[in-house]
This record gives sequence, structure tokens and C-alpha cells, in this order.
Amino acid sequence: MLENFDIFDGDADVYFDPLVMPRLRPATILYDLEPIGVGTGACESLRGYFDRLADSHRVNPTALIEDVIAQHLRGLPGYSIRITTRSKQLSRHFISGGASTESITKVLVKLTGVQELDSCTMLPTRGIIGTRGLIRSRSCHCPLCFQAVKSKPRYAQLLWEVECVTACPIHNIKFVESVCGAERSVYTHKPQKKLLSGVCSKCGSIGYCCRNDTVTTASSVEIWKAQQVAELILHLPKAATIFSQERTIYGLKELVTKSTNGVSAIVANNAGIYKSVLWGWMNGRFPPNLPQLLDICLSTGVSLVSVLKGEPSECECPRQISIIRAKPRKDRASYEERESALRQALSATPSISIAAVARKLKLHRTTLIGQFPELATRIIKRFSEFRKESSVNRRQHDLEVAGAMIKKLRDAGVPCTHRNFSKLTNQYLLPETSLWVALRKLLSEE
Ligand SMILES: [Zn+2]
Ligand SMILES: [Zn+2]
Repeated sequence: MLENFDIFDGDADVYFDPLVMPRLRPATILYDLEPIGVGTGACESLRGYFDRLADSHRVNPTALIEDVIAQHLRGLPGYSIRITTRSKQLSRHFISGGASTESITKVLVKLTGVQELDSCTMLPTRGIIGTRGLIRSRSCHCPLCFQAVKSKPRYAQLLWEVECVTACPIHNIKFVESVCGAERSVYTHKPQKKLLSGVCSKCGSIGYCCRNDTVTTASSVEIWKAQQVAELILHLPKAATIFSQERTIYGLKELVTKSTNGVSAIVANNAGIYKSVLWGWMNGRFPPNLPQLLDICLSTGVSLVSVLKGEPSECECPRQISIIRAKPRKDRASYEERESALRQALSATPSISIAAVARKLKLHRTTLIGQFPELATRIIKRFSEFRKESSVNRRQHDLEVAGAMIKKLRDAGVPCTHRNFSKLTNQYLLPETSLWVALRKLLSEE
């Protein structure tokens, strides 16, 4: 049977391998439930994961937050009492990639021992993509994704939470709102309510069949955008190594150089965004926001992930370039209108500030100051004099009121204490209140 005896140890060098015992996982408070689809475009969202986690512990998600998670969250950055109540804002706290998401994810990783929960949120893109408007406030789902899953559990996808995605890249149909379609009379009572992704929380219908939706085909642009964001979500587990702010800036500059020989204004105009916005992204002033970045990628025919990686590469795009148009510029005031507004401000009573004039004209004050330096200086001087004067008047008025109050108390034979002054004005006088300052001044002068 064994012909090659050379493979065995000889008499002289017998040794034993140290025994390697399988390591046991450290104890955790919550089940080590695996998130579904990590590393794919159809990755589960942390909010959906949390609902499944609560369900597997046979508790309500609210109870899990209030009784378990809240204790560990207290004191962490981004903590607010709102996180601990199941509000409409919750999905933002869970997914957006802000400070509260980071804290919640940290706590959940600690309590479950599951390390890859980061990838169920937009946290890995923090600092690379702006969080403002990233996550939608009303939840949506793909009706076919909820129908098709037969052997696997139904789960909420991270892609559905991204505001600028409106279609399912798997089924090429539009999302529908996760809102009950049944009548109030069939709503389930509170104790029987199932708070789980894929189940209507009002009537208990599985896969939101209560909605009776007709499936709508998405446009090619919607599908393209969904594919791009799905590709981004697919790369989230290794985002730390392949994406960075520097690479994104470099990617944007490369994109501008390749498509228009370095004229960023043309790129911005073709994508319908302001050139100052693109300039801000390219100079690291603020991170790009996803919807506008997608518009730039679409108009230049470049994939989103490749820009974030810093090596923009062409990809197949729907022919949409002619349909995207630059947004009409704000109805800004003409030169004459600006001048006449400034001249009016010079004779206005009470005096108004240059910022107020600029606000009326939908401009920034520095624009007006740069354009009409002389007029602007006169307005600024006039307004500062007016402010000084009114502050003196206010102080004088306070002193008069304070004098009257002291007289009133003394006439009634009551001591001049803070409590009595507060009772007289019917409000608690804070130390920095101008009236209290005046009262103290008068009393100390006596
Ligand atoms: Zn789908
Ligand atoms: Zn329903």
C-alpha cells in the first residue's frame, strides 16, 4: 500500500507538532448573525440587519435599542436620545456614514462579534462622498426582489436606502415606497406586529403584497445609476484600500483633463452642476455628493468606482448626454438693479446691512462689496453707526426700566433681590440679560 517510505520521519528525528486547538469565539451578548450579501451589490443594510437580529432574539427592535444598544451608545460621538427611539430618522442614523452610524456600528460589532457590519452602511465612503442627502428618508424596495426570494430570507438592501437610486439593477424596474396599501380595518394590532424587512408593519402582509403594485420598467439612465451605485456597494468591504479622498480628487482632475483638456467648466456645464461645485471637489474643499458625481460620470461616460479609485476609465453609458442640460442660472439681479438696491439702502430707515441687501438680491455680500466698493463702504459705515446708536438707546431704556423697577419694589417695602425682580418681570432674569445688568449697575452705584 505505502510504497514510498521516505516520506516518514526516520528514527533519529522524531518530533511532535504542537497541538493547535480550534479557538472558541469570545462570548457576545447578541447572536453572531451573518449579514446577507456582503461583497455584492445586493448587500443587506444595517437597518435591515438590525431588524433581523431583533427578530432572531424574539424581541421588538425598539426594545433591543432601548434596553441593550442605548446603554452602550451613551457617551459615544453622535449619540442623541433620538437614536434610541425608533423614529423615522433611524435609517439615517443606521446607514448614512455620519458619527452616529459609526457609533451604532461599533456597538453592534462589539455585541455580535461580526466584523463586516461596516460594509452594510455607507461608512466606508466617509470623507470621500458627502453624507448630505445620501440616504432617503422614506424607505423603498424592489417588489420583485421581495417576491423572488423563496429559500432565502427576505432582507432590506443597502442600495434601496440610497436617495439617488430609484431602480433595481437586477430586475430593471422602479422601486416602490414601503408603505402599506391595505385599508385601515385590516391593520394588525400592536402585539402581533412584525417589524421585519419584507413584511408590511401595518397589515403584516409578506413582501408588501398588500400594495398591489404594477411593475414599472425603469429608464436606461435610472438602471445605469443603480448599477454604478451597486458596484460601489460591492467594493465597500475593501473601500479603505482602494478609495480615498486624494484618489477621488486625482480621479476628477484626470476625468476633466481626458474629456475636455482641463476645462472643468465645460464638464460641470454638461452635467448640469455649477462649476464652483466641481472646483470645490477638485480642490478638496468639500466631498462630492453622490447624485451630482453620478451626473458627471454619466455625461463623461466614465464609471463611478473608477473615479473614486483615481483612475477614471470609460464604461458603457446610456445616450443621455443631450438630455441632461445645465440648470438655469439663478435669476440674478442685473448691474443696474444691484446699484439701485444699494442706493435705496443708503436712505432706508431703519438702516439695513449690506448682507440684508445681498440676501434680497440672492447674492453673497462679498460680491456686492467687490462690485460697488464705495457704495458698500458707505452702507456698512451707516449700518454700524445705526447699530451703535441703537445699542446705546437700548441700554438707556434698560436703565430707565430698571430704575422704575427698583422704585416700585422700594415703594412696596420689599427688598431688591434677584428673586423679587424676577417675580416683578414674570420671568427668570438670567445673568447675561441686559435688564439684569442694568439693575446690578444701578444698585452698585448707590
Ligand atoms: Zn429587484
Ligand atoms: Zn400592508
